[in-house]
Amino acid sequence: MRITVVGGTGYVGLTVAVCLAAQGHTVYAVDIRDDKVQQLKAGIPTIYEDALTDLLKDTLRRHVFIPSTDVQGAVKHAEVVFVCVGTPSRHDGRMDLSQIQGASEDIGLALKEDDDYRVVVVKSTVLPGTTENLVMPTIERLSGKTAGVDFGVCMNPEFLREGQALNDFLYPKDTGIVIGELDERSGDVLFDIYKEFDAEILRTPIRVAEMVKYARNAYLAKDISFANEMANICQGLGIDYLDVKKGMEMDSRIGRGRFLNAGAGFGGSCFPKDVRALLAQTAELGVDPMMLRATLGVNDMQPYRLVEMTKRGLGEIDGKQITILGLSFKPGTDDMREAPAIKIIHSLLAEGAKVMAYDPKAVDNARKIFGDRIQYAGSSKEALTHADACVIVTEWSEFSDPQLYDHMAGKLVVDGRRILNPNAFSSDVRYTGVGWRF
Ligand code: NAD
Repeated sequence: MRITVVGGTGYVGLTVAVCLAAQGHTVYAVDIRDDKVQQLKAGIPTIYEDALTDLLKDTLRRHVFIPSTDVQGAVKHAEVVFVCVGTPSRHDGRMDLSQIQGASEDIGLALKEDDDYRVVVVKSTVLPGTTENLVMPTIERLSGKTAGVDFGVCMNPEFLREGQALNDFLYPKDTGIVIGELDERSGDVLFDIYKEFDAEILRTPIRVAEMVKYARNAYLAKDISFANEMANICQGLGIDYLDVKKGMEMDSRIGRGRFLNAGAGFGGSCFPKDVRALLAQTAELGVDPMMLRATLGVNDMQPYRLVEMTKRGLGEIDGKQITILGLSFKPGTDDMREAPAIKIIHSLLAEGAKVMAYDPKAVDNARKIFGDRIQYAGSSKEALTHADACVIVTEWSEFSDPQLYDHMAGKLVVDGRRILNPNAFSSDVRYTGVGWRF
C-alpha cells in the first residue's frame, strides 16, 4: 500500500513509517522540520531507538521509505495518511491542537486537488471528539469533499513505549490494536494494514478509540503514583518498600507488574500531558476528577524526594558536587520531555550544588535545556570521580554495577530507581533509595 505519515520524523511518526516500510509498504515520512528530514535522508535517525538505524538504512536503500517536507504532495501520493503530529500541553494543561490543525489543513488542501478515495488515520493522542469536531471538518472545509463519501477517517491510538518502540509497534500482542472508524469502508482499509499482525483488533466508533488511549494512560499513571506513595510511606515507617511490593505481587488480583515500581515519578511525552489534558476536559463535564488530580499531585512532588534524600545524606548541598546518573525519562530513549531529572537538577542548582550529569543517550537533549549551567560527562565513571553524592534518576542497566560507585570521591548513593542492592557495596558507601528503610 502507499502510505504517508505526517509528522514522520517524530518518535511515533518515524517508528510507524519505518516499520510499515519494512513490512512492504511504500511510505512517505513527511515533516515540516527540514533539518530532521535531511537527517533522515542521510540515514541518521532523528530519535534514539534500538535497531532503528539499521531499519532506516535498509528501507532508504530499497526506496520504500521516503523522507520529505512536501506534505501535500505526499498526501496526494497515498492511499492511507497517518497523522502522527504532536499534541503537547499548553500552559493551562489543555491540549495544544495547533499541530493537528496544521496537518489537517495540509491534508484538506491536498485532497482538494485529487479525487481518489483515501483514508486519514489520526494516530496522535487526541481527546474524544477531536477527530470528528476538528480534523474532519477542517479537511472537509478546505477540500470541499465529504468525510465518509470522498475520503475515509479512522482514529488509531498508538500504544508503543519509547525504548522499545519498534518492537511494540510490530508485535502489539500485549496491547492489541484499536481501530476507531467513521464507517466500515474506512475501517476496512486500516484493518487491511494490520490484519497480519499477531494481535487482537478492536473496531469501535472513533470517540471510543480516542478515550481508550486516555483511560489506559490515566490507569497506568495512577499505578505509578500509587507505588510512589506507598514507597514514601514505607520509608517514613522504616520499612523496605521492595519487601512490601513482593508481598503485594503475591496477590493475583494485583499481580506482578512493573507499574508497582517506585521511583522518581513518571515523565515523558505521554503520561503527564495526557492526564493533564483529560483533567482539563472534565471541567466541562461536571465531573470532579479526584483520582487524576491525586495522580498528578504525587507525581509532581516525587522528584523532590530524591533532592530531600540527598540533602539529608549530605547535610548541606550548597557548593557540593552532585552527579546525576540518567537524564532521559526512561532507559532506552534519548527523550527528556518532562523527565524527572529536569526538576531534580533545577532544584539542586537552586540550592547551590554543582551538577555533573551523565546519560548514555540523552546528553544532547540535556544541553538544550541546561546549556553550560551543568557539566556533562562522557562516561558514568568520569561522572562519579569527583562526586560528593550521586543520584540515580534513570535505570540504565550500566548503573546497576555496584563497583562503579567505588570511584566516587564522596560516598553517598541516592538510588531513585532501586536498581542497586544495598548490601553489594564496599563498606564505606552510604546508600539510600526511594522506599528504602532509612
Ligand atoms: P514528536 O514531537 O516527537 O513528533 C511530532 C512531529 O510532527 C514533529 O517532528 C513535528 O515537526 C511534526 N509536525 C508538526 N506539525 C506538522 C505538520 N503540520 N506537518 C508535518 N509534520 C508536522 O511527537 P511524538 O512523541 O511522536 O508524539 C506524536 C503523537 O503521538 C502525540 O499525540 C503523542 O501523544 C502520541 N504518542 C506518543 C508516544 C510516545 O511514546 N512518544 C506514544 C503513543 C502516542
